[in-house]
Amino acid sequence: MLASVLIAKKRDGGELTQSEIEFLIEGYVDESIPDYQMSAWAMAVYLRGMSPFEIECLTDAMIASGVTMPKLDNALRVDKHSTGGLGDKTSLILAPLLSLFDLHVPMISGRGLGITGGTLDKLEAIPGFRTDLTQPEIDSALDRVGCVITGATKELVPADRKLYALRDVTATVPSIPLITASIMSKKLAESLDSLVLDVKWGTGAFMQDRDSAIALAQSLKRIGTRMGVSTRALLSDMNQPLGKMVGNGLEVNESIEILQGNGPEDASSLTIELAAILLVDTGKASNLIEARSKLLAKLKDGSAWERFQQMVSIQGGSIERPLAVSHPFPFLANRSGWIESIDGQLLGQAIISLGGGRRIAGEKIDPTVGLEMNCRIGDPIRSGDLILNVFARKESDSIKVQSLLHSAIRIGDNAPSLRPLFEPLDSFDQPLQAK
Ligand code: URA
Repeated sequence: MLASVLIAKKRDGGELTQSEIEFLIEGYVDESIPDYQMSAWAMAVYLRGMSPFEIECLTDAMIASGVTMPKLDNALRVDKHSTGGLGDKTSLILAPLLSLFDLHVPMISGRGLGITGGTLDKLEAIPGFRTDLTQPEIDSALDRVGCVITGATKELVPADRKLYALRDVTATVPSIPLITASIMSKKLAESLDSLVLDVKWGTGAFMQDRDSAIALAQSLKRIGTRMGVSTRALLSDMNQPLGKMVGNGLEVNESIEILQGNGPEDASSLTIELAAILLVDTGKASNLIEARSKLLAKLKDGSAWERFQQMVSIQGGSIERPLAVSHPFPFLANRSGWIESIDGQLLGQAIISLGGGRRIAGEKIDPTVGLEMNCRIGDPIRSGDLILNVFARKESDSIKVQSLLHSAIRIGDNAPSLRPLFEPLDSFDQPLQAK
């Protein structure tokens, strides 16, 4: 086979066979196919798309490029994947919470992508916390605590690590087939029984518009289901940050509040909903109402917080109380009206300029900085009211982001219409039934 012939076939809109896709992925990983040919192929896919069959073959070939996680016990294995959004701390709560129901949660997470923070960066705000566990350490953590949140091991889906880096510099990241294979290869390599997807859209998310998020949710779900893993998806609105806190250490602290049965309603209800879907899907609850109430009870009685501390400890960290953060500087409204819109991209840029996110790969992050939102879309506001606090190393840093913040938060003359935080699937999927 010749890579150039396969690139031309894709360029002209043809469907590649399973063996052709395997040839490309194997060749890319063993370096017999160079970056420049793989870039041309990725661009052909970006422009021409892929059939569901091709996406399935690509996902399979990517999984086969490495090892899959061994399943050493009989516990049902579950996980959640979120496509990332500003203030999204659901993973930190959901993994320990679900493990309290005899479910194992081997959560392989990533770092910040663009303006959205990564789960690994958040957890690394905890002194000593390790996110580079080896497979034997992951197995041991699952056995002893039932949950783990760590980065992908070197052996897990090496094709994705290479291909993702290539896509990043060739403008081919926003391709639904390539995103689907990238996400699902990593999740399916965890040997899961059940998966829930939190597909986000809006100014604070990777997907800016709702229709693209629906198309991505359908593609992810289709591949998970075709490949034998029970896969559910929820669509959530990220046109404003999730919870009040944005910034790595601040988000850990807010997660602790939620793990203790408190915290903001939006972040805790989305976490409970995603976990409830998995409880019903694995037969641990007979319907969503029962599942939500079982989960809430574990947050209220302290067991979720205790399990989180056990997970932190087994991963080398220690956390008994909230983390120390930078000093808060107030940001006030300069007119009266209603909070009309919040631009997550601009808020994300403000956090990056405070030192709370990366401008270039590998840059060190300051976990003590960030924002505390004091208002949500639709809130009435008067000139001089507190809109948010800027946690910054020094006051001059907080002054530097003022103009970004004024552009990010629009105050209008009329109350805007409100959207639900997350949508039931019925409009674009089958309703969830108890098993
Ligand atoms: N996250 C991933 O893991 N892969 C993508 O392609 C995009 C987001």
